[in-house]
Amino acid sequence: MKIKILTLFPQIIETYFSTSIAAKAVEKGLITYEIINIRDFARDKHKTCDDAPYGGGAGMVLKPEPLGAALEASGAEQYRTIFPTPSGRLFHQSYATELAQEKTLIFICGRYEGIDQRIIDLYVDDEISIGDYILSSGEVASLVLIDSILRLVPGVIKAESLVDESITSGLLEYPQYTRPEVYKGLRVPEILLSGNHAMIQKWRYEQSLLKTKKYRPDLLRKGN
Ligand code: SAM
Repeated sequence: MKIKILTLFPQIIETYFSTSIAAKAVEKGLITYEIINIRDFARDKHKTCDDAPYGGGAGMVLKPEPLGAALEASGAEQYRTIFPTPSGRLFHQSYATELAQEKTLIFICGRYEGIDQRIIDLYVDDEISIGDYILSSGEVASLVLIDSILRLVPGVIKAESLVDESITSGLLEYPQYTRPEVYKGLRVPEILLSGNHAMIQKWRYEQSLLKTKKYRPDLLRKGN
């Protein structure tokens, strides 16, 4: 998969792709990425990329010309182009699975009050919200989307690691423990030391149900 990210702050994105799972995926050739600095497409001597909103109001808006030129140079008309925004469709694991099928994805990182609507009208295929809260930057939101998509690309992480995960399984995941057996007086549940895999599975399922009832009863109502 190829991921292209249009941003005013390339260093935020670069750090992500040069670390941990993403860096390994790049090293293995499973993912390629391209960071496009929107400022490189600004034509005036101050490299201006934002301006005040028509109609007044607080904050600034990303201007259409530099962003539009950056999108055209990135092939936005032929590739699925995503704008993360709190006014978009709410993101979900199934949406990540759908996006993971694409060969190329383009992400636009908004800033300030957002981007000129005409850019959305002309180039954007998906406006996606990562949740009902406001971040100050589209870089963080894009990386949330990219990270959830990238781990679904075959070979990036072990397939069996994806199976029992929260949400994907329809429930929240059961509690996990590792060594030591006792930590600050708290023991690992005896059943996990028993070696009885059928009983462990049963315990995990029950724990998943309890946790889902407590934090996400909506998942149970959906019949997942
Ligand atoms: N004025 C915008 C509004 O009320 O919808 C919020 C702009 S926000 C301060 C700046 C940028 O952060 C947005 O353009 C978007 O790219 C990103 N952003 C903030 N919250 C987000 C969310 N919940 N989901 C996706 N992107 C978000």
